Amino acid sequence: MELTVAARTDVGMIRSGNEDSFFAHATRERGVFIVADGMGGHAAGEVASEMTVQIISRELHEMASLGDGADDRVTTAILQANRAVYERTIQESDKQGMGTTASVLVVSGDQYLIGQVGDSRVYLLRDGALRQLTKDHSYVQEQVDAGLLTPEQARYHPYSNVITRCVGASDNVEPDTYSGEIKKGDVFLVASDGLTGMVDDRRLQQLLLSRASAGRVVDALIAEANYRGGLDNITAIVIQVMGSGPTDTAERPTPKHGDTIPG
Ligand code: CA
Repeated sequence: MELTVAARTDVGMIRSGNEDSFFAHATRERGVFIVADGMGGHAAGEVASEMTVQIISRELHEMASLGDGADDRVTTAILQANRAVYERTIQESDKQGMGTTASVLVVSGDQYLIGQVGDSRVYLLRDGALRQLTKDHSYVQEQVDAGLLTPEQARYHPYSNVITRCVGASDNVEPDTYSGEIKKGDVFLVASDGLTGMVDDRRLQQLLLSRASAGRVVDALIAEANYRGGLDNITAIVIQVMGSGPTDTAERPTPKHGDTIPG
């Protein structure tokens, strides 16, 4: 397996600061990808998302395989971040109410594992079809589940950004985990709601189907979100799964590391 990766965050068209943070690191054997979308006044959202990305990436740094216990390891990493962020909200008055989403994708061998809190999403494009692997912890998702809103109404709902699970909001949090097998040709997307709230799944699929490099796909996704208004900070990580050994592409893997974000 060989991964081609690109990751970028963008402040968008409206906001003055960027509260999203991300981490993307891949070797030949494995990759760890994290998106965290912070919230809270006085730039506290930036602190929450940055702390969370740093703690989770540190905890998962040496995770070699996705065998037994991998779920627990990802969950524990998210819980550690939760505790650290929550403690700061208690200790520092200007950090009160800060929190963040956390979506973590670990890819190793022919397996993937996801840990998730909040509404930053992981998608998989396989055989031309796009599937959302995570389920948002959000008010509007609950309304959709109850049959009270359509997904399209949820996108434009005034409470579309209200999340129901959050890293740092209390002393405990319950991450969801998902796992599955990887196939050659798969394309993963990890993104904050500044992308997925502006660009619908059909358009995401079109852009991800492009045979361009991961870097160009990321640029196209962010440009599309900005073109449609760019109301929020936009973060996208694209992971293309190439075959193992010699591939039919001239492109080399380009691991990128971005745990701090320019404001
Ligand atoms: Ca956001």
